[in-house]
Amino acid sequence: MMLSKLSIAKIWLALLGLAFLVSCSDSPEKISFSGKTMGTTYSVTVYSKDPRHNKEEIQKKVDIVLKRVNAQMSTYDPESELSQFNQFKSTQPMVISRDLERVVNRGLEIAEETEGALDITVGPLVNLWGFGPQARPEKEPSEEELNAVREKTGYQKLRVENHQLIKDNPELYVDLSTIAKGYGVDRVAHLLDQLRIKQYLVEIGGEVIAKGGKPDEALWRLAIEKPVSTERAVQRVVQFKDGALATSGDYRNYYEEDGKRYSHIIDPVTGAPVQHNLVSTSVYAEDTMSADAYATALFVMGTEKAKSFAKKHNMAVMLIYKTDDGFEEYMSEAFKPLLAEQ
Ligand code: FAD
Repeated sequence: MMLSKLSIAKIWLALLGLAFLVSCSDSPEKISFSGKTMGTTYSVTVYSKDPRHNKEEIQKKVDIVLKRVNAQMSTYDPESELSQFNQFKSTQPMVISRDLERVVNRGLEIAEETEGALDITVGPLVNLWGFGPQARPEKEPSEEELNAVREKTGYQKLRVENHQLIKDNPELYVDLSTIAKGYGVDRVAHLLDQLRIKQYLVEIGGEVIAKGGKPDEALWRLAIEKPVSTERAVQRVVQFKDGALATSGDYRNYYEEDGKRYSHIIDPVTGAPVQHNLVSTSVYAEDTMSADAYATALFVMGTEKAKSFAKKHNMAVMLIYKTDDGFEEYMSEAFKPLLAEQ
């Protein structure tokens, strides 16, 4: 039997329709991978129905993005753009990339807002106390050493003008360790947006951004760790569809000398590692760079100042602090809706 052209066209349309239905009814594929970056690890999970979204291809692109952030902002790489600025002992302007400009500008904005609790020029102090690329000091620095190094710090001595970075003191050294990891997360998220991936979770060293929730309207669930160095246990579980979460604390990166704990977070006022009862700060925000920076700034402030700052700025914040009876929590009103059943 001969089929008419119209019948053949109908069969083709029916087949195409079927193929379309099959591809639409497919549940999204979960793609996960991890790797190393910035002296720590990263992990990415995406859900996608698009057959063009292939794990190896996405990971290759993610690695390129992360290499770029490292090459721009690492103080651990003497060749990075930031290290070149730090080695440039001059008050002459230096042209910088748009990425570096964005991160320095955000760092300076949050420094102003937090009255210097966040200070991206504390690098020499971080190094003096043995937490940067340099080795740990054999003994606590003397008052003279501290004062000499503090002369070289102060975010007010740094500015960005016409895509150029300028320091008022040629010895100024910029350390973006507290903010560039978050920026790296945001750049990977931007890449996934460009690839038209609608549901993803990106994490670098504990700083996370999530987008679009999970399939079947499920939310992304994330754990906030208990602030102890002896085990990895969960303090709280939070859940959300979109947003970024960053945590700062002194329970992982510290050392003890003569029974005293030295944290890697420096109070720019004293020039020394923070000494108070606050042990962990978690901040939920729209972007990871801001969450990361605020988490450190709140940590520097200490419990009471951090609480009032969070209230004043209506921030979603969870603090864990030490009392004589163990650990206590504070959650701002904006944070409470994020809590999930454990
Ligand atoms: P956060 O709380 O996010 O930041 C704390 C860090 O910020 C401190 O360690 C200090 O550097 C700085 N800081 C302290 N006090 C203040 C303050 N008052 N204001 C502002 N900043 C402050 N580590 C390696 O060991 N090897 C590497 O090769 C390496 N490469 C890196 C490359 C990049 C681009 C970045 C951003 C970091 C890199 N690191 C590397 C650093 C490592 O990942 C850090 O430990 C990390 O960035 C600090 O993050 P955190 O979450 O532990 O603490």
